[in-house]
Amino acid sequence: MKTVGVLALQGSFREHLAMLAKLNDVTPLAVKNTDDLARVDGLILPGGESTAQGKLLRDFKLLEPLRVRIRDGLPVWGTCAGLILLAKQIEGGEPTHLGVMDIAVRRNAYGGQLDSFTAAAVLPGISPEPFSLVFIRAPWIEQAGAGVEVLARYGEHIIAAKERNMLVTSFHPELTGDMRFHAYFVRQIAG
Ligand code: GLN
Repeated sequence: MKTVGVLALQGSFREHLAMLAKLNDVTPLAVKNTDDLARVDGLILPGGESTAQGKLLRDFKLLEPLRVRIRDGLPVWGTCAGLILLAKQIEGGEPTHLGVMDIAVRRNAYGGQLDSFTAAAVLPGISPEPFSLVFIRAPWIEQAGAGVEVLARYGEHIIAAKERNMLVTSFHPELTGDMRFHAYFVRQIAG
């Protein structure tokens, strides 16, 4: 059994927990404090609002313990706002949060008409069948360092990537009912 946490301070954590509950070898855990954090073998950082999540991480004294666990190799998957929390750089000079992944991200990158939309794409490293991609005021990755593996692009921009133990997507697999991305993340967790 693997204990897979979802940071449960703000955003779409319930949807991720419901997806994890459908996987056989997984015990889902809502992570709200450092005791919870100490129990997980892997952690999902959900979508929501990254500024609010960053503030809550600081208020609950979770930012530094989480950064340390990620640096020590905890498998993490940041979706949307979670991707922004992991980034070493946020365009526009905004202060970063965890600042551990070598990517520069643009928040709310698909402005105006494309604020929220659905698209489809094949993510070759993950499954040969196309995924439905749900974007909600989504970021894109503007630059990725040499150690970052690009998993998917939409148009010219990177929307899924991996660096060591860190996985990020700018879209929301937890809102599609499609288990493949969650299963893929759980496979990255040794156990
Ligand atoms: N726009 C949000 C932010 O900048 C992210 C949106 C999402 O997580 N769906 O934090």
